[in-house]
Amino acid sequence: MLAEYRHDLAEMDLAELEQALEAMGHPRFHARQLYQWVHKRGVTDFAEMTDLARDLRSSLAAAFRVSTPDILRRDTSIDGTTKFLLKLEDGQRIEAVFIPDTPANTFCLSTQVGCAMRCGFCLTGKMGIVRNLTAGEIAGQVRVLARELRMLDARFNIVLMGMGEPLHNYDAVMKALRMLADEHGPAVSPRRVTLSTVGVLPALERLATEPLMPNLAISLHATTEEQRDLLVPINRKYGLRELLDACRRFPVKRRDRITFEYVMLKDVNDSDDDARRLVRLLSGIKAKVNLLPLNEAAGIPYERPGDARINRFAKILADRGLTVSVRRSRGRDIRAACGQLITESARQKSPGQILANLIAT
Ligand code: SAH
Repeated sequence: MLAEYRHDLAEMDLAELEQALEAMGHPRFHARQLYQWVHKRGVTDFAEMTDLARDLRSSLAAAFRVSTPDILRRDTSIDGTTKFLLKLEDGQRIEAVFIPDTPANTFCLSTQVGCAMRCGFCLTGKMGIVRNLTAGEIAGQVRVLARELRMLDARFNIVLMGMGEPLHNYDAVMKALRMLADEHGPAVSPRRVTLSTVGVLPALERLATEPLMPNLAISLHATTEEQRDLLVPINRKYGLRELLDACRRFPVKRRDRITFEYVMLKDVNDSDDDARRLVRLLSGIKAKVNLLPLNEAAGIPYERPGDARINRFAKILADRGLTVSVRRSRGRDIRAACGQLITESARQKSPGQILANLIAT
């Protein structure tokens, strides 16, 4: 039996699985058992699904495969952060990260192989976009990491802050969130999921209408159009002003807030004036600010400001009533920190100046 002829069960939500079983002449309630085996217990071999009759198991094995990313490499930081290099069915590679106690346990997932956004300070952007991940590949990262870390029964949060721009792969991301939220799977409520985006406006407007709504984080990074045009190139298409207007309209629940991420770049966007402008820009939005001191890397033409500058910037925001936090960088020793995810294959494929430097470091 060639794998290509079998449907990939990893791509199916519960309703699709029920339909598929019914079409094969099996009772639909088996779908729930199957879904549980795969998504809750991380089991992909039908032979191990012992509460299903032997006949059913063999007919399932003939009809379905469960494609599952392979772990190629696992690096653990001194702070416990663990970065996984995963290989997908077509050989493409992505990274996913486990971050313990932040205060919750958190899985940081990728949504694309590479990224098209090319933000000036982010290594993933240097890869360009290779392809979107499927819903099954996004949700599959959770099942693979949870099994490997023996966390299948643990409670954890999810952040879509790995490789890729989630709103650039809207349908697959939303389907993955529905699959993860299913009570027969890992049952991660959207309230425990944070979607981080540069602000792809049409997709953001669409997200505002979803019944199943994750927390929202906006990668702002600048306080003027000119500055943001340079740092986050998609700003030339969907500008700062429009983005903030969309945030103002975004249906934020009563006690919730939108997180604004702001990468701190020495002498670029870290002045007192920037801080004061940021306060003005966010007025009228239920906002909190997360300052991300730059994770420096070879090939990234920016520097991280000193702690005194970062603290002064944070104080200006806080004194004016904004909730502000400074992201403690995790896993920097294993290059698992924000903006540092770039797969080895990409390093090898693009022997250009920047990537060559990377290999050397
Ligand atoms: N594409 C999404 C999610 C990716 S990364 C987005 O842009 O929001 C999560 C955060 O890390 C983003 O705010 C991103 O801008 C930030 N980031 C990227 N490179 C970084 C770096 N070198 N240092 C610190 N933060 C970085």
